[in-house]
Amino acid sequence: MWDDGVVTNRSTLQGSHQVDVCVIGLGGSGLSAIDEALSHGASVIGIDRLAVGAEAAGRNGGFLKTGLTEPLHSALEAWGESAIPVYRKTIDEVESVFAQAGEGGRRVGSIRLATTDAEVADCETHLEALRSASLPGEPYDGPEGVGLYFPIDGGFNPLLRCRRLADQVTAGGAVLGERSEAVSVATGRVETSQATVQATTVVVAVDGRLEVMFPQLAVRTTRLQMIGTEPDPGVTVACPVYADFGYNYWQQLPDGRLAVGGARNLHSDDEWTHDGGVSDAVQTDIEVVLRHQVGSQAAVTHRWSGHSAYTEDGLPVGREVEPGVWVVGAYNGVGNVLGAVYGREAVRAGLGLGPFDLPDSNA
Ligand SMILES: Cc1cc2nc3c(=O)[nH]c(=O)nc-3n(C[C@H](O)[C@H](O)[C@H](O)COP(=O)(O)OP(=O)(O)OC[C@H]3O[C@@H](n4cnc5c(N)ncnc54)[C@H](O)[C@@H]3O)c2cc1C
Repeated sequence: MWDDGVVTNRSTLQGSHQVDVCVIGLGGSGLSAIDEALSHGASVIGIDRLAVGAEAAGRNGGFLKTGLTEPLHSALEAWGESAIPVYRKTIDEVESVFAQAGEGGRRVGSIRLATTDAEVADCETHLEALRSASLPGEPYDGPEGVGLYFPIDGGFNPLLRCRRLADQVTAGGAVLGERSEAVSVATGRVETSQATVQATTVVVAVDGRLEVMFPQLAVRTTRLQMIGTEPDPGVTVACPVYADFGYNYWQQLPDGRLAVGGARNLHSDDEWTHDGGVSDAVQTDIEVVLRHQVGSQAAVTHRWSGHSAYTEDGLPVGREVEPGVWVVGAYNGVGNVLGAVYGREAVRAGLGLGPFDLPDSNA
C-alpha cells in the first residue's frame, strides 16, 4: 500500500566507529532522534536490524494523530497534568512530520466518530477536557456521522516519511546501517555481528517487540492488522476517521484507495503475538468495517500487519536504563507523532541539554 518500489538498499554497518550518539531503530522515532542529534551538532550512527521503516513506522495506517494514546480526559487520569504539555509537544511535532512526509502528507484533520450513545457522551467529556486545556478540537456533525473533529491532524504515507527522513539525516551527516542488528547494548558501546560503535549516548527507539531486546520491561507486543482496497469512486472519506473508541480506523487516499484497520478488540487474546502476517478472523472483521461502516464494496488488494508494544498503565517507556543508554517505545498503538517526541527528548537528555521531561511508564 505504501511502498513506492524505490529500494534504498543501505549498507550494513561494518567495522569500528566512534560517535556522539548511536540510535538503534530506524523507524520514525529513531530517525527523529537522529535528526535531533544532528541539530545539536552531534555525530550520529543509526542502525536497524531490518531496514528504514521496516516495522510499524512504515506499516501503519498512515494516520497522523496529535495527542496521546487515549482521549485527553482519559489520558489525564493515566498521565496526570503532564498529559497537557505532552499533548502540546505532539502539536509542535506533527508540523515536522508533515514536512518529512512531503507530498505524502495531507493536512485534512481527523474525526473521532461516535457510534454509540456511550461514545457520544464520551466525546462530550473529551471536548470539555480539550477546551479547558485550550487544545484544538471541535464538535463534528457531517457525512461520517457525529463526533469530534481535530483540525491539526491528517494522513500521510508512513513509509515515504521514513525514507525521506532517512535521506535527510544522511544528507545531514548521519551514517545509517540496515540489516545491522544490535546484539549487545551497554553504556558507551553497541555491537552488531559486523560492527562495534562506541557512543557517549545510545538511544534505543524500538516499539513492537521491545520486550525481546529488554525482557525486564513489562511491555507486551500486539499485532495490528490492516486492509487496503482498490480505488473506490463511490465513497468519499475526507479525512482519517477513528471509530469505536479508536479500535477501528480508516482513511481514503487521494487516488481513492481505502486503508482500513482495527478489530483488535474482538480478537485481543490472539493478537498478543510477535508473528507477522494476518489472520482470517481479524481480516474478516476489518472487512465488516469496510463494507458496513465505511460503506465500500471495493475489492481488497492489500492485507498486512505491524506490531506495537503496549503497557499496563498506557504510558510509553522513556528512560535511561543504564548510564547513557536511553530506551523509548511502547506507544500503545499511537506512536507516529508521540514516538518522535520521545525520540527527540531522549537525545536531548542524553546530550545533557536538559532532563528527560516526559512521563515514563511503570512497565
Ligand atoms: C497497523 C498499525 C496501525 C497503526 N496506527 C497508528 C495510528 O493511527 N496512529 C499512530 O500514531 N500510530 C499508529 N500505529 C503505531 C505506530 O505505527 C507506531 O507506534 C510507531 O510507528 C512506532 O515507530 P518507532 O519508530 O517507535 O518503532 P518501530 O517502527 O517499531 O521501529 C523500530 C525499528 O527498530 C528495529 N529494531 C528492532 N530491534 C532492533 C535491534 N536489536 N537492532 C537494530 N534494530 C532493531 C526494527 O527493525 C524497526 O525498524 C499503528 C501501528 C500499526 C502496526
